Amino acid sequence: LKAINIEKIRADFPILQREVNGKPLVYFDNGATTQKPKQVIDAVAHYYEQMNSNVHRGVHYLSQISTDAFEVTRRKLQAFIHAEHEHEVIITKGTTESINMVATCYGRKFIGEGDEIIVSAMEHHSNIVPWQMLCDEKGCVLKVIPMNDRGELDLDVYKSLFSSKTKIATFTYVSNALGTINPVKEMIDIAHEHQVPVLLDAAQAVQHMAVDVQALDVDFLVFSGHKMYGPTGVGVLYGKEALLNAMPPYQGGGDMIKEVSFEKTTYNELPFKFEAGTPNIEAGICLGEAIDYLNELGLEQIKAYEDELLAYATAELSQVEGVRFIGTAAQKSSVISFVVDGTHPYDIGVILDKLGIAVRTGHHCAQPVMERFGIPGTVRMSLAMYNTKAEVDTLVEGLKRALKMLL
Ligand code: PMP
Repeated sequence: LKAINIEKIRADFPILQREVNGKPLVYFDNGATTQKPKQVIDAVAHYYEQMNSNVHRGVHYLSQISTDAFEVTRRKLQAFIHAEHEHEVIITKGTTESINMVATCYGRKFIGEGDEIIVSAMEHHSNIVPWQMLCDEKGCVLKVIPMNDRGELDLDVYKSLFSSKTKIATFTYVSNALGTINPVKEMIDIAHEHQVPVLLDAAQAVQHMAVDVQALDVDFLVFSGHKMYGPTGVGVLYGKEALLNAMPPYQGGGDMIKEVSFEKTTYNELPFKFEAGTPNIEAGICLGEAIDYLNELGLEQIKAYEDELLAYATAELSQVEGVRFIGTAAQKSSVISFVVDGTHPYDIGVILDKLGIAVRTGHHCAQPVMERFGIPGTVRMSLAMYNTKAEVDTLVEGLKRALKMLL
């Protein structure tokens, strides 16, 4: 493996050169959103200065080049997740919209009263609430895969949750609150033995490891551009062609139709059937730059570097008296959640912020996870490939200072 050139990477991210509260920024809130390299930032300006035009509509030059660039991103996304067809890649606003699309459209068509949906105990709210809304509407029920004290899903219980009424199973690839990497290939195979399709939330996976939808044989995969060094307001719903074709559209509007009359409307083909209205064109185009950036570094190198950093940060933090890790799974990625008994995560976060260190505190949009561990929240440090061991040291020093003040 070619080692990562960390200096060069850091130089690509202008925001990493700034100070916060008079201290060099140390950004450890990458699970919430990643920073952007100048290649992506420049592409945004280039789009508005040279290309701005609506897509899939005009005959004129600008409309053609922006349409082409938007569709280039779709093909980059297809290659990035190794989808069989480019029309299996639906460009959405982000993970949340992608999950809502599946819950709504697959739910409308295939889920009825008394049917069952399997979800895991470690889901982000965006992979719980859309299914609960469907349950309210249709009278279906959620079955929850529990987890153990390390924050690992119980696969024996998972297997026992399937019944003839199970219509879909959904779980996250990597937990945003705990960092657990779930054994998703095994879990998908189990679901398929019961002829149940799977939606995989890859919002915390695609920026950290190579994801191959065909190797996984996953039915739906969702993720967000802004967590993978791309712009906000764009994301992906991958779906197997047959499933997407069988589902009704999500929203009605421009682009998603073939012909409209007041008597009858026919829908467009994939992917446009699910892309009503003007998309976030600039974000869509510039997400392509983020993919190029990741590909150039190589996800295997990124993973190797981040795994080393995770091991280092875990070891260093475990030396700090009072730190109790929440989530100690055997397979983890880039997230360290912890509490210090006798302190509130928020207070630690505020003191770290004064030192220029950005972490997230609270429930991380995963309240059931906090409930499982009997805590109101954690301090979460989430890593990206531009973080360094020196930054970990800064955080550890900052934490020690915070604890001196708080305890
Ligand atoms: N799922 C997971 C695992 C996440 O970490 C997040 C973002 N924190 C989401 C879903 C929601 O993503 P977005 O807010 O970009 O729609």
